[in-house]
This record gives sequence, structure tokens and C-alpha cells, in this order.
Amino acid sequence: MIYLDNASTTRCKESSAEIIKRGLIEDFFNPSAKYYNSLTEAKKLDACRDEILKMVGANNNYSVVFTGSATEANNLVLSSSLNKHRENIISLGEHASIYETAKHFAGEGYKILEASLNKNGEVDIEEYKKLLSPQTAFISIMLVSNETGAINNLKEIVRFARSVNPKVLIHTDCVQGFCKIKINMQELGVDYLTLSSHKVEGPKGVGCLVYRKQVKLEPEIFGGGQENNKRSGTENLPSILGFINSAKELHENMQKSFEKVFEFKQKLIKEIREYSKEAGLEFIVNGDENNSSPYILSCGFIGTKGEVLLHSLEEAEILVGTGSACNSKHSGNRTLSAMGRTENEVNSNIRLSFSAESAGLNPKEIAQIIVERAKKHNNTQKR
Ligand code: PLP
Repeated sequence: MIYLDNASTTRCKESSAEIIKRGLIEDFFNPSAKYYNSLTEAKKLDACRDEILKMVGANNNYSVVFTGSATEANNLVLSSSLNKHRENIISLGEHASIYETAKHFAGEGYKILEASLNKNGEVDIEEYKKLLSPQTAFISIMLVSNETGAINNLKEIVRFARSVNPKVLIHTDCVQGFCKIKINMQELGVDYLTLSSHKVEGPKGVGCLVYRKQVKLEPEIFGGGQENNKRSGTENLPSILGFINSAKELHENMQKSFEKVFEFKQKLIKEIREYSKEAGLEFIVNGDENNSSPYILSCGFIGTKGEVLLHSLEEAEILVGTGSACNSKHSGNRTLSAMGRTENEVNSNIRLSFSAESAGLNPKEIAQIIVERAKKHNNTQKR
């Protein structure tokens, strides 16, 4: 089986699975209890926070709240920091855990402005600037798009916002950027940042929100006051330890992996292009193939339905996605439409997403199978 859906989820590292098992069976003590075994676990939990801060370039003006997912972290920051009396900005490319949450609050009377995307899938900076005003109180814009791999120029986004309102609160969803491209929270100047464990070869069911200690963060879940009163409930320490173990390993190899995966993506695109030409197929890449995350390739063949191609590739034991798996219950694709893609282009979409390991695969062989299958199910050829 060839797994090319790593933006949806990744295989947990074996070393992390071992750590989780030990945490569940041997070091199972509640980090909030008072005896020695528990104090040791509490220390481990704090060490995990420090590791996250290091990996995202944050000093001790920041802290970390561990959650059950990035979805929860995104809900936490929005429910706490969207401003009911002023204006809030998100982008049209945000993951559903931001977009749908913001939509919910819009239904409650919050003013949510949507920044549009350019043809590469990045936030259109000129259009974004027009949305900013002294009334702007909160902004949430992702670093890397889960649909296309487009990388937003967050530094500029933050700079323009603060020049209009120095007190604006800014959040970024870094789920698809973490351990793939360098993140420096202080340099970016954001107040909040979201991460997910299962996208970086850690276990499912863990995410976190990094936040500047001075800014407002009101809990959504009340109870025993865990996580500095920001998220009650006994922490899933075994999985948090697994998350950190995987993330650290990926983070250490980040630059090397980036280069390998970049080269693999380029070769794969080149091979698909060549086979498509021979097959008389129109192959499209959504986004800027040279200046986006190498870990994501959003593409399609005009006249071949993405979902049909997905299942055909599944028969050939190649697993790919059609856009965000978290979005698979909604038809269409908000991000691609916002980029100006036509209905035909949107319907043809498949998303291939890679891990460092994918770089060891044979791009020629994969391209050949993809194009064969795309041709088999192509409507334009049958007319
Ligand atoms: N944000 C982005 C950009 C994502 O790609 C995803 C998952 O696809 C999420 C948030 C949600 O992550 P989780 O599965 O941890 O809730």
C-alpha cells in the first residue's frame, strides 16, 4: 500500500507508541495528585510544554495548553477571543475548525470578515489590507493551507494589522506547517498558535494551543482547573509524551526532510505532466508548485472526477485524499473556489500529501498509475 494522505493523518512513530504504552501501564499516575509518582508526571508535563515552546520559537512569555485536538484548540481560541463588539477577520482558506466555528459565532451576532485568496491559494494581501481598521480586534489566519499547501506571509499579515491597531489579537493555525517549515512565534508576532499531534507522527487525540501569557484566554471546559485553569480534565499525559517524542524527531530532521520531499514533489509533478501529455489529459496543479509546502500536492485532471479517481487509486493500493478529510461531508471545496477554480476544476481535485518517508517512493511508478487511472475515468475522452 502506498499512503499519500499524510495531511489527513500520519502513522504514529513506533518509539512514541512505546512511550504511550509505558505511560498507560507503568507511569499511569495522575499529574495532579500529591504523591511523589505524580509529581514526577507533573514535571514531565511541564517539560513537554517547554519542548513545544522551543520548537515554535516562543520564550517564557508564552505558555501551552494541551487539548484533545487542534479542532478543540481552534474552538478554544475563537470562543475566548472573538470580539462581539468589534470586527474579526478570518480567511476563506481556513480549516473547518476555524471557519465553521466563526460561522457559528457570526450567527450569534459577531462581525466576521473573510479575507479572500489569490489564485495561488494565499491570503490576498491587498484585499486583506482593505479589511483592516482600528475596529479590528481579532484575526485568525493559517500558516500553511491543508488544501493546497499555500504558505501565507504571516509576518506581513501581522505587520499590517498591528500598524492599523497595535492591540489586535492574532492567532495562526500551524497544524500543516509544524515540523515541516520553521516557525518562530516571536518573530511572527502572533499571540496564539495551534498544533496537532497526529499530523506529525504522534498519536491522535492530542493538540495544543500556544498563547502569550499576557493575553486573554478564557476556558471553554470548566472543572478541576488543570492546564492552568484553561482546560479542565485529567491530561492525556501518555499521548502528550508520544506527541513530543514524534515532533522532536521530525523537528530535528526538518530541513533535510523538506529538501527530500521538495525534490520528490517536483519529480512527481514532472512525471505526471509527461504521462498526461502522452495520454492527452489536461493536468492542473492548484497553487504555486514551487513556493508552497512540498508536503501537499493539490491537483486534478479535467474531466476526471476526483472522488472517482480516489477510489480507482484505492483499488491500485494508493491512498490519496480529495481535499480535507475533515471536510469530506461537505461537497465542493471552499478553498479552491476562493482561488477562482471553476466547478470542473474543483470536481477533479485530489490531494496527495507526503511524509518524509514518501520521498523514498518511486515518483515515476506512482505517476504512471495515477495517469492510467485518470485516463480510464476521464469524460472528455469519451465524447
Ligand atoms: N487545522 C488544520 C489546518 C488541519 O489540517 C486540521 C486537520 O486536518 C485541523 C486543524 C484539525 O486537526 P485535528 O484533527 O487535530 O482536530
